[in-house]
Amino acid sequence: MCGIVGYVGPEQAAPILLEGLTRLEYRGYDSAGLAVRDGNNRVEVVKAKGRLKALKDKTNDGSALKGNTGIGHTRWATHGEPSENNAHPHISDDLNVVAVHNGIIENFTEIKEKLIKNRYSFYSETDTEAIVKLIDYYYKKYNIGPIDAIAKTMVRVRGSYAIAVMFKDLPGEIWVARKDSPMIIGVSDDATYVASDVPAILNHTRSVYYIGNLEMACLRAGEVHFYNLDGDEIGKELSTIEWDTEAAEKGGFEHFMMKEIHEQPKAVSDTMNAYVKDGSIDFEAAGLSSEKLKKVKRVYIAACGSAYHVGMTAQYIIESLARVPVRVELASEFRYRNPILEEDSLVIAISQSGETADTLAAIREAKENGVPTLGIVNVVGSSIAREADSVINTMAGPEIAVATTKAYSAQLIAMYLFAIKLAFENGKIDKERHDGLLAEMATLPSKISKVLEDKERIQWFTAKFSLAHDVFFIGRGMDYAICLEGSLKMKEISYIHSEAYAAGELKHGTISLVEDGTLVIGVLTQPELYEKTRSNLVEVKSRGAYLMGLTSAGNYGIEDTVDFTIYIPKTDPLFADSLAVVPLQLMGYYMSVGRGLDVDKPRNLAKSVTVE
Ligand code: GLU
Repeated sequence: MCGIVGYVGPEQAAPILLEGLTRLEYRGYDSAGLAVRDGNNRVEVVKAKGRLKALKDKTNDGSALKGNTGIGHTRWATHGEPSENNAHPHISDDLNVVAVHNGIIENFTEIKEKLIKNRYSFYSETDTEAIVKLIDYYYKKYNIGPIDAIAKTMVRVRGSYAIAVMFKDLPGEIWVARKDSPMIIGVSDDATYVASDVPAILNHTRSVYYIGNLEMACLRAGEVHFYNLDGDEIGKELSTIEWDTEAAEKGGFEHFMMKEIHEQPKAVSDTMNAYVKDGSIDFEAAGLSSEKLKKVKRVYIAACGSAYHVGMTAQYIIESLARVPVRVELASEFRYRNPILEEDSLVIAISQSGETADTLAAIREAKENGVPTLGIVNVVGSSIAREADSVINTMAGPEIAVATTKAYSAQLIAMYLFAIKLAFENGKIDKERHDGLLAEMATLPSKISKVLEDKERIQWFTAKFSLAHDVFFIGRGMDYAICLEGSLKMKEISYIHSEAYAAGELKHGTISLVEDGTLVIGVLTQPELYEKTRSNLVEVKSRGAYLMGLTSAGNYGIEDTVDFTIYIPKTDPLFADSLAVVPLQLMGYYMSVGRGLDVDKPRNLAKSVTVE
């Protein structure tokens, strides 16, 4: 949700801010804005509705805005329609305070009423304007300077925020604060940066500080000071970002999504190699010792979106291999249903960004209940990584396309490794099976590459259905989990209505939606369920459906039933999702391209969901 950038240094700020926003545009893209100033009191604010390009055009790629200090924002609206008026930065009445915000201020109405009584006026529908004016109010009322004005505001507001603020009488300074929304601070010799995510600053520095929850910082050119809520200065360790800059570029592909689909073999092998040492799985670096694993008697997995689908797959694998009961939950539900959590449980939170608000809340809920937590994240140093007791880092590198592909695949690998390790430590599988599974996993990258070689065929087939109204995905067991992901991939970027059904469930209602020519995609990778799903495919075919089958090489009999078949290489059925997902990702991609849509930035969505 929303991208924030800030710069203070010797260069002209606006072009640097725009470049940073370009790399964060996946986080929100309904409007954008900049506020820039130089050594005097004059602050210039420029905003534009729509994609960042509109703001670039309006500012002549930033060159029209002079000044060496500035903040920028690309918005994913939560309060107030996407419009120039609601776009950030927001300002106090006399431009004393200018700020950008990521998150939601839950009690903004109450704050707004209080401020209106104190003769403040409001021009936008955003919650953000309330926080900006509250800072201004405290700053002036008590004459207490930026630290105390921000700290008082932080105590008064409820909700989540990462804010970057400039004060009229403090040229050359940007003040930032955060609670439950991501923010990093980068430093080079003579400049300082703030951003919602790493790609925004990678071209300038790899040295970053992670600002903690309920902390503030003051950025000046080449220096930064951190403060706690009491206003005491606090020390921070500098970290180094290992990602290379190329990872955040398209590298010759037309879209990030296609590039990231092709990066899956590497994401899979890098994630495996990070935790498999000399033929065994080593989670010591993740803070997950064998002793801890032996105590785990049940597992809860909390996640959202595609990460939830990874959880669904993991549930089958963990229960099958380790015989430990698993419950997978949507993180947004988990936190509010007062879950019964026993101490011998483990709560696993899966999130690409490590910032997903609901998933982070699940970790906190577990910790409050005294239950150990494991985070599976792709962003080192993210909130979940910092708050979970143990962390498995997926090694997918920066993922820019809104629709996840390589991070999903890397999360599957992390969960396979977890399941195998748990099963082995608890004596549920022997060394031979353990070694066999790892050996099979090692073949997955080359098998994924093999699936990718077939992409033209998938493109050809998808083109025939680019005008489809409804698409159904059916499968059983782990195939159902992959159907959920395939269906989400299709609908989120092509805007075609699609649904995933457990194959046996279709006839309990949804089959009435099947008409002549409706595309139904059957996933059949699980040998013991193959015949069952095939029968379900025949049922819909009898009602006019056009059938596509996605199955493992060797099941050639499927061609008698379906109209079009995609084969994936043979693997252990437990790992079939890693291969079956690839054609489905490609179908979603080609469907979106075929309909002329913006694949990387689908409407209404944003990459990391940092609001509830
Ligand atoms: N709640 C704020 C708004 O709607 C910030 C949204 C964002 O994070 O982009 O403007």
